[in-house]
Amino acid sequence: MLTDAHNRIINYIRLAVTDRCNLRCTYCMPEQMQFLQRQELLTNDEILTLLRPLAAAGIDKLRITGGEPFLRKDLLPLLTSLKTFIPEISITTNGVLTQPYIPQLKAIGIRKINLSLDTLQRDRFQQITKRDQFPAVMQTLNSLLEHDMQVKLNVVIMGGVNTDELQAFAELTKQMPLSVRFIEEMPFNGQGHAFSGNQWHYLRMLDALQEYYTLKKLPIQPQATSINYQIPGYQGQIGVIPAYSRTFCGTCNRLRITPTGGLKTCLYGGDVLNVRDLLRSGAGSALILQEIRHALGHRAENGFEAERQNQHWDSMSVIGG
Ligand code: SAM
Ligand code: SF4
Repeated sequence: MLTDAHNRIINYIRLAVTDRCNLRCTYCMPEQMQFLQRQELLTNDEILTLLRPLAAAGIDKLRITGGEPFLRKDLLPLLTSLKTFIPEISITTNGVLTQPYIPQLKAIGIRKINLSLDTLQRDRFQQITKRDQFPAVMQTLNSLLEHDMQVKLNVVIMGGVNTDELQAFAELTKQMPLSVRFIEEMPFNGQGHAFSGNQWHYLRMLDALQEYYTLKKLPIQPQATSINYQIPGYQGQIGVIPAYSRTFCGTCNRLRITPTGGLKTCLYGGDVLNVRDLLRSGAGSALILQEIRHALGHRAENGFEAERQNQHWDSMSVIGG
């Protein structure tokens, strides 16, 4: 079992398999992005070598993220191998390239997909992402539901950009059995100081929603990052994620691995270890596990403490979300 300095059990890894992306969401990365060289990324073999002992040590949940994971050419073989020893694998995707892979994902046993979509308007989608890919994403959404996948829609709420769409997103849950999650914006836009602070606290989102709906609060799931509600009579759920307010750190069970093998014990913290360099220097599983346990032994108590120690904001495309 893996535990941290504050006796929290760690059983969940978020792995960013690439930093590349086919969108340029303004809150995530600058338009001109310097991408990594291929040899800097963890290879499939390295990922498997790293994750096997971690799975044996209790990691039973993995989220694949990025950048855009479906830009990685060898993603499907990787997922197939990972699924042989990690019970629950989910993927976060922007949905641009995802649709053709849905039957294969289902065949591998991957059912949980987080689809990122911040607007239901095509022109606004282009303003936010700098690309005209709204139809492709909507096709993916419809196809995911047709294939009976468990879909969570990630919606980053940004003051002056999409706050007028809270109701339109909530209305999706009337007919669609999906979970719409409104996320507080975080400072990881790859533009350093250009973050002016989150103006849309999750309580403000809830207030805005409660102007239209009587929300029924759902039981809090252990280690959940979202607080979930249902609109009576609607099929799906809505949730808010206090990603910037960080109300959920006390039960955090997650580790993050960046595309270059950086280990993060907190989203708001820096890399505390590089597992790729360890692997490439010939370190075996025992040493790697020992180093990871050591890093966990120094884990910040919460995102505020990690932020004080770090004070540097990468683009979310290299952290993975
Ligand atoms: N490209 C994929 C996607 O967009 O779903 C996966 C990677 S993306 C970095 C993972 C998640 O992080 C997305 O849901 C995205 O909306 C979220 N994200 C990125 N930057 C963010 C920010 N500054 N604040 C809040 N969420 C952010
Ligand atoms: Fe790409 Fe996802 Fe970042 Fe948007 S949020 S730029 S889709 S990595």
